Amino acid sequence: MTDGASRPPLGPVRIDAADPRYGDLIKGVNHRFTGSPDHIRIVGSAEQTVRAVQDAVDAGQRIAVRSGGHCLEDFVDGPRTRFLIDLSELDDVFFDPERNAFAIGPGAQLSTVYRALYKGWGVTIPGGSCPSVAAGGHILGGGYGPLTRLHGCVVDYLYGVEVVVVDASGSARKVVATRDDEGALQDLWWAHTGGGGGNFGVVTRYWLRSPEGSHEDSPEPSELLPKPPATVLDSLVTWSWDDLTRDRFRRLMRNHAEWHERNSAPDSPYASLFSVVGAFHRASGAFIMSTQMDAGVPDAERLLQEYLDALDEGVGLRPQHMVRTRPWLESMLHPTLPDTVTGMRSKGKAAYLLKGYTDGQLDVLYDGLTDGHGHMGAGVLFMSYGGKVGTVPPDRTATAQRTAVIKAFYVDLWQNPAEDEEHLRWIRELYRDVYAHSGGVPVPDDASDGTYINYPDGDLADPVWNTSGVPWHHLYYKDNYPRLQRAKAAWDPKDVFRHTLSVELP
Ligand SMILES: Cc1cc2nc3c(=O)[nH]c(=O)nc-3n(C[C@H](O)[C@H](O)[C@H](O)COP(=O)(O)OP(=O)(O)OC[C@H]3O[C@@H](n4cnc5c(N)ncnc54)[C@H](O)[C@@H]3O)c2cc1C
Repeated sequence: MTDGASRPPLGPVRIDAADPRYGDLIKGVNHRFTGSPDHIRIVGSAEQTVRAVQDAVDAGQRIAVRSGGHCLEDFVDGPRTRFLIDLSELDDVFFDPERNAFAIGPGAQLSTVYRALYKGWGVTIPGGSCPSVAAGGHILGGGYGPLTRLHGCVVDYLYGVEVVVVDASGSARKVVATRDDEGALQDLWWAHTGGGGGNFGVVTRYWLRSPEGSHEDSPEPSELLPKPPATVLDSLVTWSWDDLTRDRFRRLMRNHAEWHERNSAPDSPYASLFSVVGAFHRASGAFIMSTQMDAGVPDAERLLQEYLDALDEGVGLRPQHMVRTRPWLESMLHPTLPDTVTGMRSKGKAAYLLKGYTDGQLDVLYDGLTDGHGHMGAGVLFMSYGGKVGTVPPDRTATAQRTAVIKAFYVDLWQNPAEDEEHLRWIRELYRDVYAHSGGVPVPDDASDGTYINYPDGDLADPVWNTSGVPWHHLYYKDNYPRLQRAKAAWDPKDVFRHTLSVELP
């Protein structure tokens, strides 16, 4: 807050197991995991966060941090977490004239970020399509969404971070690191451009602005971040599994991948077209796709129709589709594909695709999606990628994967704890078999480019499921890992911030 008349910070609120609020705070979105921390601290300022971290370090208790609670693994709600710091109330979004950048609190959900930036200045960040994901973990892991082909990743706009770190003597303090800094401070900023959550400290504020323009240039705030389209064409396309024979499935998936291989240059007329193919299990009955595209692009409706025709070529199913023109903010706050993950038990796995799957891989996928598993929440999502992402060198940010054209997200959702084993087996075996030629994981080669740390998968560190000999960190960070380790050594030398896939000390 900048005007001196702002609301006082909330907290700190201390919660233990006897508190009626405890039950609300020991789970995130994925109900497969329930924490049992001795202490929960809800913080409302960076100073309170320093105090909380210090208390945890002094007590020798393992810390975990939650902002929006969307972590897919047990990094926050695992049994080892004894001290949980909740940043969900640290959610301010404002323009900070001192840094000439937009300040975003880690607890700000993407809905809050989109609303505040757009209503206040007509700008946005190219972030995710789930409104309840929070900036805290999202930005640290890279961040992408419907505007990414047009504007790149969220971290391409990260100007600075305020982080609570713990030094070698065990003292917690607040540090600000920006891309204008040099040496270890610049490493700390850089580590937050895709290094992943829970690795280096606790982020208490992000600053974002375009990579072009310096602090001295002082352009208008409305020139410092991308402007979203005023209106978008949103569509929902539905295929029936009854019509999707193996041959049609193969052809449709091949058409989809080849279209992305052809149309993912940053200057493509399709740069604003983002689609999510939801290849859910046959038991769900439908095979769906949502698209979002700038409605102001010349001939937008024709371009969208040509995309749909390209997918249908040689398939001949002419799937049902519904198209509507909507204001951009409405589309982001109420996405075509609603969140079905929150409150379910889930397991996710992901992969970057440089090109489409082979017929052999598509056959494995077809078999997996049509087998006896029979659960509606199981499937694979294929998200459009590429475009402006590829204009940034792989080492400029910690987000190394810059040439992929599709992100794949394997997911299984269920409710009954008794079914955990069955669902975990299904998704693990499907992914392993799709990547059977490279040790069960998407080893970077001419078709795959590893995977995304914001879709973390602990199996990649398990030799039972990753038989490639390629370490998990190479799949996430490729050649950027040594610099992340350097940042880790400088800023978290006691490895206070750690989880199954945390950056290791060198
Ligand atoms: C339903 C759903 C939809 C999604 N959609 C997208 C999408 O469209 N695009 C996309 O890019 N990603 C997407 N994601 C992935 C999402 O970006 C990550 O799960 C992200 O890490 C969530 O951040 P969070 O703060 O909500 O979660 P949290 O569970 O609070 O945090 C995630 C991780 O970051 C750490 N962390 C959180 N806050 C801080 C902090 N302040 N300082 C240091 N570490 C911190 C946590 O300890 C944890 O390890 C989606 C996830 C889900 C479950």
